[in-house]
Amino acid sequence: MAHKSVILITIDALRPDHLKAYNYYKNTAPNLEKFVKKGSVFTNALTNGPETPSAFSSLFTSILPFLSGGFSPLPTQKLIFPQILKENGIYTYGIHSNPNLGEYFNYHRGFDVFLDGERYKEKQDMPNNRIIKKNSLYFLKKLLNYKNLFNRLMYGLKGFNKIKSLLRNRFPFLTDIFLPFTPIAYNAPYVVNKVTSFLKKYDKELFLWAHFMDVHSPFNPPSKNVLAINNSDIILRERSFLNTEVYQNPEKYTISSEILDKLKILYDAEINYVDSYLKYLFELILQKFPKDCLVIITADHGESFFEHGFFFHQGNIYDELLKIPLFIVEIGNDNAIKTINNIVQIIDIAPTIIDYFGFSIPDTFQGKSLIPLIRGESIEREKYIISETYQKNGIMKRNGETGYKLLSIRAYGWKYIYNEQFDEELLFYLKSDPEEKVNLITKEIAKLTQFRKIRDSHFEEMTAVDEFSTISKAITKIDFKNINL
Ligand SMILES: [Zn+2]
Repeated sequence: MAHKSVILITIDALRPDHLKAYNYYKNTAPNLEKFVKKGSVFTNALTNGPETPSAFSSLFTSILPFLSGGFSPLPTQKLIFPQILKENGIYTYGIHSNPNLGEYFNYHRGFDVFLDGERYKEKQDMPNNRIIKKNSLYFLKKLLNYKNLFNRLMYGLKGFNKIKSLLRNRFPFLTDIFLPFTPIAYNAPYVVNKVTSFLKKYDKELFLWAHFMDVHSPFNPPSKNVLAINNSDIILRERSFLNTEVYQNPEKYTISSEILDKLKILYDAEINYVDSYLKYLFELILQKFPKDCLVIITADHGESFFEHGFFFHQGNIYDELLKIPLFIVEIGNDNAIKTINNIVQIIDIAPTIIDYFGFSIPDTFQGKSLIPLIRGESIEREKYIISETYQKNGIMKRNGETGYKLLSIRAYGWKYIYNEQFDEELLFYLKSDPEEKVNLITKEIAKLTQFRKIRDSHFEEMTAVDEFSTISKAITKIDFKNINL
């Protein structure tokens, strides 16, 4: 077996158009920009799910979220790629703190080391498991969450942000202690510290996954990072107003361009914050792996900044959520194609990793390896791209809960959206309407009919008894020759 390693870095809710590599006017992430110059940037990468559970299910299983039993929790029959790596003798290390990706949701499978912050999760459905310590933490947390008491206390404390950033920088291990009280737990210094300490000691082929939550709302970056991308800071009271009032209850306010600009400054500063720590990880990677290492940097989904009347990343499936950054750096390959414009999907990442190690890609994987693209070879063009999730009244639903299907299909410059709850359909011609503002549903009846065919055929696949054997059959059931999209 070749001595190869893969490092997957995922940054929750990172929009590509807030990075210079995707023509953003600010350089929010200078260290990332410098590192990815060694590899390929994918200018048209899309997620198959608009929020964490559906997106990560697609990334880890290379199967669309609705198929093979759903996506949250991951059904155990849905193989995730770390299982394949482990079976083939690769050491696997994962660290994240997104509650949707924990052991409870079956993401731990195939990992030799899996740090997910789960030990702080109160398991309300398992009362017998509660020990006194867990119980007291649970009630303390509940108390602090009462009317947002903790946040109000912290925001009200002068210099809190300075103290927080000082503590985070100097004593990353304090995260373990504060973990139960903060909504978003492991922060960038903690994750980078854990990962770099491990990498320094480890010396064999490996797969490492590090997920960063800092760019995820609420946006409350250290002032230093705000000042790195903007000429003035935003005071804590205003940050609190933006994060807790505007972001959560936009209907109460007139969303002015000034409000949007300020939110974006805070968001950009969070990107800058993560980037300032990624610097250490990139330095170590380059020092440790002079060759035979594939580094993939991506996001699970984007973030809405009121383009279509939404904030956050739930309840809609527009491109501000579906477009993701994707960089692949093949260390040791100096001839990598720098810019790749092919439309690629998050389900392509698992086969890419398996392919790079040289293992055979399971038949159940719906994505394709991107290794040929970065090496200048071509791959067959995807006919269409499906992204999907469950939601109800704009709130994400896992498949165990009662939710409605929200789906988009993209093909040859067109995009179709179906919202089951309101039986709503939208059709956009992205080539002339990239912002998805002009619904052509009544004008393009032929196109609509074609998209409905694909949609219905896809929904039929969901109900197939043995999905694993029927996936490919169901796909070939669609007669592409007669679909002119
Ligand atoms: Zn996410």
